[in-house]
Amino acid sequence: MSYRGGRGRGRGRGGRGGGYYGGSSGGRGSQGPQSFDSSTQPRTGGDNGGTHSDFVELLRRLDGKQYPAYHDIESSTRGWVNNIEGYTLYIGRAQGDPYAKPTRCRVIVKGDTAKFPPVSHQNKVRSVALGDYLNRVFYQSCKDMGADVKAREAGNWNGPKGGDIEISRPTQHVIEQSAVRILPNGDICAQFTVNLPARGRSILGHKAVQIFDQTLPQLVQKSLIYTSLDANVVTRHVLNVEDQEWVRSNLEIRGLVAFVPDGAILPRMSGADDRPMDETVKDGENSKLVRFHSPDTLRVSFDLPNMGKTLAGIGIRKGITLIVGGGFHGKSTLLSALQVGMYNKIPGDGREFCVCSSTAVKIRSEDGRNVSEVNISPFISNLPFGKNTECFASPDASGSTSQATNIMEALEMGAKTLLIDEDTCATNFMIRDDKMMELVHKDKEPITPFLYKVKTLSKQGISVILVVGSCGDFFDVADTTILMDSYSCYDVTTRAKQIAASRATNNGALAASRASFGNVTPRCPVGTAFNPNNGKITVRSKALIAYGDVELDLSGLEQIVSKEQTNSIALALQRLTALENGSKMTIFQVLTQLNALLDHEGLEALTNGQFDGSLARPRTFEIAGAINRLRANESFVQLK
Ligand code: ADP
Ligand code: MG
Repeated sequence: MSYRGGRGRGRGRGGRGGGYYGGSSGGRGSQGPQSFDSSTQPRTGGDNGGTHSDFVELLRRLDGKQYPAYHDIESSTRGWVNNIEGYTLYIGRAQGDPYAKPTRCRVIVKGDTAKFPPVSHQNKVRSVALGDYLNRVFYQSCKDMGADVKAREAGNWNGPKGGDIEISRPTQHVIEQSAVRILPNGDICAQFTVNLPARGRSILGHKAVQIFDQTLPQLVQKSLIYTSLDANVVTRHVLNVEDQEWVRSNLEIRGLVAFVPDGAILPRMSGADDRPMDETVKDGENSKLVRFHSPDTLRVSFDLPNMGKTLAGIGIRKGITLIVGGGFHGKSTLLSALQVGMYNKIPGDGREFCVCSSTAVKIRSEDGRNVSEVNISPFISNLPFGKNTECFASPDASGSTSQATNIMEALEMGAKTLLIDEDTCATNFMIRDDKMMELVHKDKEPITPFLYKVKTLSKQGISVILVVGSCGDFFDVADTTILMDSYSCYDVTTRAKQIAASRATNNGALAASRASFGNVTPRCPVGTAFNPNNGKITVRSKALIAYGDVELDLSGLEQIVSKEQTNSIALALQRLTALENGSKMTIFQVLTQLNALLDHEGLEALTNGQFDGSLARPRTFEIAGAINRLRANESFVQLK
């Protein structure tokens, strides 16, 4: 995925036509914040076009020619108009050879043809939900028709190649994406890739005709036209997602940070399969699914506006909430559901309506991560040999310093809820017991454990949901304690408070911790540091970006739920190079600006005019997380 140098072979004409776009991308340069202006870069692809039969004719003529002749079908501005099926096909820059990245295509179906009722996409959340649904149908239709299968003859270089159509694979989450969108004027825009077919290095024109004259029109018919779909299912999908969004947006005024409805299915099929656990017993094991059920004392309810029913479940309040219980009793499973509770789910996922504040950030320790100029002094000070913790940097942070960093960076970006699981914490960051305090003098211990800081955090309006199985000292500071026992949930707040009151612990350290939390120091990204040193940024997986010659490891960012989000993050990062050094824009300001641009223009704002269907919207927290982890010299300076 190269975005620099050599890419803009836009033939000099019609660069940013964009007429098919309902005006949305036309005025980007003037409307968007300057630091994200990309209007000077050329679009790719050609500006030829015509009727569908011209196109088919052209493909036939290309049969047997050398592969690069495929450039003749590029039509990124005018498009190939299929009047019979009622859509226009745009083809981006044709791949250079049969082994290169497949060719990006876009289909626009006019609103009059697609005929989706305006209520199905009348606001942002509905439009995102409908686009998501159509992405799913397109993906499934591709599979059903075998359109996603590429020709391959084992061991034969001269055999047929390519021919497959591919669209982004949907996840359990419903997130704004670029594979299928509803444009502001009601047109449907689908973006996918076609691996242009070849035999050896010559064009298989007749195979291409089959793809574009038969398979694609059928796919469009099956998946992008309202009358082909089950109207009830479409309606349910859209209204269900909107109700989920509604519950989330009502958490705040109800004094809650999260909600899990009675009946929810929290466990997943497996660690590698995000679908819900099967309700039937798994091969004789005692892994029978237990649906979530709220303790009566913590039960709240919501009257869903669309579905017209009342949904009851546990309301997790602002403040400090502990999730306790024995090992293997379902604690982490509950927290895992909450940490993706900022995303809506597809109906049937089991975690629909399991929602969490959109400013909740999962915190974990992540030893080995890169840290640039972060003020971690609220947690850590007096490092050996006077190493500065107000402006801490390390290419190889320890368990505790990485966890402190993760918290400080989350706060810097405006996190209001922290989600923490002891399974992935540095113990010395979380607690220190009396005996250890007696042996190792306070002055010799740089860390003020989280236990002594969590109360002051909560007083400043930062809520914490914390899974602990091993340390009862947290009872002293918790507002609510819930117990998971054999996957059932109980309110044990009163008992936990009694236990806390009956024992004096921690040598008065808790009292000492009533002092203020300390400062969050904003940092300004340094543009030049984000220049990939060999010009290339390649997304290898959801958790790994090759950023020039350095690897950017995102595995600590557990709230990234798809590779499509990582693709967007990679594009967002690339834009930071445009930041002027010494601009004094903080990372919070930079990303707030980017977020506003994405709100206004959608993911299209990141694509530089390419038909990129491989994007999904990340939160600013995850974009910041990626920026923070990049191994570059001096990627930040603190705002003084
Ligand atoms: P803990 O964090 O308390 O040690 P986990 O949440 O990791 O426990 O859960 C342990 C196992 O139990 C996991 O394999 C998980 O899939 C399964 N599990 C969790 N919740 C349920 C449930 N409600 N019903 C059935 N199995 C569950
Ligand atoms: Mg666990």
